[in-house]
Amino acid sequence: MSHVIPVFANFLDVPPVQKWQQKSVQTPKIEEKKLPWLKDRTISAALSELDNISFSEKDLMYLKNMGVNPPFKNGAEVIDFIKKSNVRIRFAKTSSKHIHAQYDYEKNTIYINDLYKNSQDFPVILAIAEAILHEAGHAKDNDSDSSVQEELDFLGMNAVAHRAFLKKYGDIFSESDELIVKDGVIVYSELFFDPDPDKEKLVERMKKKYGYLPDGDYLHPPSKLAKKIKYTDFSQLTTAEN
Ligand SMILES: [Zn+2]
Repeated sequence: MSHVIPVFANFLDVPPVQKWQQKSVQTPKIEEKKLPWLKDRTISAALSELDNISFSEKDLMYLKNMGVNPPFKNGAEVIDFIKKSNVRIRFAKTSSKHIHAQYDYEKNTIYINDLYKNSQDFPVILAIAEAILHEAGHAKDNDSDSSVQEELDFLGMNAVAHRAFLKKYGDIFSESDELIVKDGVIVYSELFFDPDPDKEKLVERMKKKYGYLPDGDYLHPPSKLAKKIKYTDFSQLTTAEN
């Protein structure tokens, strides 16, 4: 994973905010035409970025070999789904600063933590795009529950999307102090593409955050990796951190 950063950092000759300001003047907001309810400038910018991102075939194959199956194959597919399924997206208070986004099944609405409302910080906008991508996965399932495998499928997709943004914009994330960036999108990209074949760090993190969920469900049958996350007893491992 680390090899991506120095290569693409070379292309980053404008600071992120400046880049975003340029974009906001020049790029028409196509999704406003597609989604008439959309008025929020930050969400609009995030959806524009999502609309234009494609995932690497190689990255998707890598996930497949791990037993991880993303529900969308590129960003435009997500925008089409949001439109077709009438999903709404807005900022709202979440119960913690660590909950960056949530999908409300009853209201068919994705909430983004209102800490980031009106943000024009480009890394944050990309992170919101990734959060929307993840929650759109939950919306596509059309059920109110989750599982370890379901989260693996969506977080793996997040990792691939994050790598696509790195490839497109260079490493504009590592300097960010925003939680949605440094405790969100960066983490899973590194964990899923960790060269460790056993993915021990991914297993630990997933166990800590999602170990209470069932290993799989009807729409997301559990892979070997999901079972490892669900059933590994970390009290036995000396490498486990807190
Ligand atoms: Zn989730």
